[in-house]
Amino acid sequence: MTIDIIKECEGANRIGIGGHIRPDGDCVGSTLGLWMYLKKCLPDASVCVYLEKPSAIFAKIKGFDEINSAFPEEEAFDVFFALDCGADRLGDCEKYFRAAKKTINIDHHVSNAGTGTVNWVRPEIGSCCEVLYDLMDKDKLDRDIATALYVGMIHDTGVFQYSNTTPDTMRKGGELIAYGVDFSRLILETFYQKNYVQSQIMGRALMESIRFMDNTCIVSVIEQKTMDFYGATPKDLDGIVNQLRNIKGISCAVFMYQTDVMEYKVSLRTDERVNAAEVCTYFGGGGHMRAAGCTMRGTFHDCINNLSAQIEKQMVKA
Ligand code: AMP
Ligand code: MN
Ligand code: MN
Repeated sequence: MTIDIIKECEGANRIGIGGHIRPDGDCVGSTLGLWMYLKKCLPDASVCVYLEKPSAIFAKIKGFDEINSAFPEEEAFDVFFALDCGADRLGDCEKYFRAAKKTINIDHHVSNAGTGTVNWVRPEIGSCCEVLYDLMDKDKLDRDIATALYVGMIHDTGVFQYSNTTPDTMRKGGELIAYGVDFSRLILETFYQKNYVQSQIMGRALMESIRFMDNTCIVSVIEQKTMDFYGATPKDLDGIVNQLRNIKGISCAVFMYQTDVMEYKVSLRTDERVNAAEVCTYFGGGGHMRAAGCTMRGTFHDCINNLSAQIEKQMVKA
């Protein structure tokens, strides 16, 4: 069984596309990739993308400048897509989703039971972009669409490193670069490159990190006042949790940054000893087996105490 995206949009004049709050590479790649694809296949329909303002590192993806981050009041859409999340994480897009005549939810989060009138959630697939690629007519793809999908694939698989990478992922990545994707530059500029401030704040997070549970776990936190000191925003903190995870002996890396008084955004990265999605789902978040997130309230110490109790329950004996 599969879904036919174009058939599902039959007769639709107004199509909207949204993704999750704090959009990442997979979210930006999948929304813009689908936007280009729908415009190409359905030239008479109006197609718009609504997302919180993404990081400027994605500016080279075609359509980036047309992303609407103002979330104006709109007439109800005939079809509204939620990509890389369920309705609950659409943020300001949720109102479009709720009002739309038809909703299509395409995702790969194990924590998403499917929130649309049509659902295609494939937790075994590493990125929403890879899920979308499977649903697209390959004759309609071009370099711009391939570039968008490739960005999502490399971001969610850590450039084909994480365990969500399969032989199929590699094959599809190969098919995408055959459209002429400038992959070396994309990987450097969107995934690895950090500016000076981002590098400094990462250094600080590593320096102040603390190991716990017999040195199998590590946590680091960046408070609002530290972000203010460096003139940094949450987008500047991407990659810190991955760096913590790369430390030898660590089964569970926790990175937290302050989002409000007594409120933290928490990111977890784990190895096979801990199911990150299960831990984060317990705290009202979600994600995947090896990468998940949630928002927690309380002091940093409250949060890490509560988290570590759940991690400990989960931790498989070495
Ligand atoms: P992050 O740590 O924010 O990079 O997120 C890791 C993975 O978990 C990504 O696939 C996110 O989309 C997902 N995720 C993060 N926060 C949440 C949340 N509150 N609810 C559901 N999924 C989340
Ligand atoms: Mn995402
Ligand atoms: Mn994703």
